[in-house]
Amino acid sequence: MSNLGLLAPYSCAECHGPLWRIDGDGPIRFRCHGGHAYTAESLVSAQVDGTEALRWDVLRTLEERSALVREISERAKGMGHASEATSWARRARVLEEEAAELRNQLAQRKVARPQRAPLKRSRA
Ligand SMILES: [Zn+2]
Repeated sequence: MSNLGLLAPYSCAECHGPLWRIDGDGPIRFRCHGGHAYTAESLVSAQVDGTEALRWDVLRTLEERSALVREISERAKGMGHASEATSWARRARVLEEEAAELRNQLAQRKVARPQRAPLKRSRA
């Protein structure tokens, strides 16, 4: 790929492979081995999109973890393990607060939540 130009200190926003700076006049342009091509502006835009998708992934993970921890707490409570239940409930609260803070940040930035593909359910 040396005919493309110099290796750039950036990675492809789609495949995360290395990017080469394409020689030539005009706008700054990049390309990866996989054929993804960017201008400097479109690379910035793609990086922003990637960052927002990661934030939504973090939020989903926090929501799932807090629900799971809350379930563990409820189970411990139901089994009469009050101290354990309280400890798990405290963890769930911290996770819920963390998720709420991130959800508010995303709402303020007016970033649409990406649609999730329906989960494939396998028969056990
Ligand atoms: Zn690529």
